[in-house]
Amino acid sequence: MREVQTKFIFITGGVVSSLGKGVTTAALGRLLKARGKKVSILKIDPYINIDPGTMNPYEHGEVFVTADGAETDQDLGHYERFIDEELIHESNFTTGQIYQSLIDAERRGDFLGKTVEEVPHVTNEIIRRIHAAAEKTKAEVLLVELGSTLGDIKGMAFLEAFRILRHKEGRDNCLSVHVTLLPHLNTTGELKTRPAQYSVRDLRSYGLPTNVLVARADKDISDEVLDKLSITCDIDREAIVPMSTTKNIYDVPVRLEQRGLGEYIDKKLGLGGTTSNLKEWAGMVEKIEKLKHEQDLEIAIVGKYVELTDAYISVSEAVKSAGLAHDRGVKIRWVNAEDIEKEGPRLLDGVNGVVVPGGFGDRGIEGKIMTANWCRENKVPYLGLCLGMQVLTIEFARHVLGEETANSAEFDPKTKHPVIHLMEAQQSVYTKGGTMRLGNYPCKLIDGSLAKEAYGEDEIEERHRHRYEFNNEYREQLENAGLRVAGTTPDDVLVEIVEVKDHPFMVGSQFHPEFKSRPNRAHPLFNAFVGAAIKKTAPSTTRTAKKKAL
Ligand code: GLN
Repeated sequence: MREVQTKFIFITGGVVSSLGKGVTTAALGRLLKARGKKVSILKIDPYINIDPGTMNPYEHGEVFVTADGAETDQDLGHYERFIDEELIHESNFTTGQIYQSLIDAERRGDFLGKTVEEVPHVTNEIIRRIHAAAEKTKAEVLLVELGSTLGDIKGMAFLEAFRILRHKEGRDNCLSVHVTLLPHLNTTGELKTRPAQYSVRDLRSYGLPTNVLVARADKDISDEVLDKLSITCDIDREAIVPMSTTKNIYDVPVRLEQRGLGEYIDKKLGLGGTTSNLKEWAGMVEKIEKLKHEQDLEIAIVGKYVELTDAYISVSEAVKSAGLAHDRGVKIRWVNAEDIEKEGPRLLDGVNGVVVPGGFGDRGIEGKIMTANWCRENKVPYLGLCLGMQVLTIEFARHVLGEETANSAEFDPKTKHPVIHLMEAQQSVYTKGGTMRLGNYPCKLIDGSLAKEAYGEDEIEERHRHRYEFNNEYREQLENAGLRVAGTTPDDVLVEIVEVKDHPFMVGSQFHPEFKSRPNRAHPLFNAFVGAAIKKTAPSTTRTAKKKAL
């Protein structure tokens, strides 16, 4: 039995995809948190994969890893950054997971004698998982975002589950928020409301009302258009929220609150007369705006999916947040590692620092190694994340230790010098899904290291997602050559952080610090990296970098 009556907010999208439904959901979460509520968010992905962990980033963007080791949709990254609450395995599920549990149960004999069907078995399993997320997170308000667009066949069972849940939980405990598009036609200069009317009608045909309509457009939306939507869609006028496209996503909670949505939801869900405190958040938004006009610090992110920058969304957000903590606007230069292979590191000329993020497979690896080499030799600040740490190690082994064929066994299984090799625990693992070293593990920091100075702590906990690791057989040689092991697992077995000694800031972590960065609380490693990048630019500048986060 649940201790508190959770209030549920279902978020659906209509007309087209890529409306910013994830950001809207995250922003709603922040808005309610600022009203003193314990908020959590659940994302439903209606595809057959068990999770996005096995998908190419071009298919799906970034894979966000939770503290408890779930490989999840990148929207969970937005959620964590906005609501600043750790999410869990139960915060994201897919059609694949629903079917898997039902088929397993059927094979066990749990349904002996019965036919297993879409209704009630699939819908019950969906509802069970929504309840599990509410119970485990102890949320007073659980936002449930349904991936996909209204009209997609794959979303139907979920809409039916929402309808049943609303019936069972009581209408006063549930709210349906629909995010839709108002297309703009140049010929008439108008925003059209008809598609929105149809998608609201469509939702109604599934037995779901639209209590709140978030109207998205690339243009400003007039009151006239909002009045029309209210009448044609039969929605309270104060529940129609215009949301024109913004470059600063952190502004969305402030805009929603200004439009009175906080009060409206409070009233509708009986949240007890909450008052909003978005002051600090709004201050951060203003600062981001101001710094946008002064992007004088340029950081390169060298990856292989740079055409789809969403693949590195937590990394670029972490860099920008660290810039913010230092009162500096950061410009990101996206560099394709394969272009470096062709054109050389001149593509990095003029940057103040370089991040090499995580990745899998050998495409672009040599370009990343060239990047690490350029940063080491030119003393340009370098932050390597997971694969970026492995690349740092390979470069150092090749060019400082002099083992020219050094490599990771992932890219050259026959290499004579596998300075990065498969973890012991991975050697008997043959299946790909969910089998990496995932989630939080503790890391002991070594005295005198840049990492320890950055964190100011003896032991930290960070999120992981990898199969390969630093090969301890090379540890002594590499350390003697000038590589510092700055962090290890508490038993000293796995190397978690390495640093180049004779360098202002060349640090690589086997974990992914970007997942713990928040817009208003920059991550210590990113903070220290950006601090070093600032020093690299203008040591004589009168601007002093503030160490403190916002
Ligand atoms: N491919 C590397 C490994 O599995 C790095 C993984 C990553 O960057 N997330 O160890």
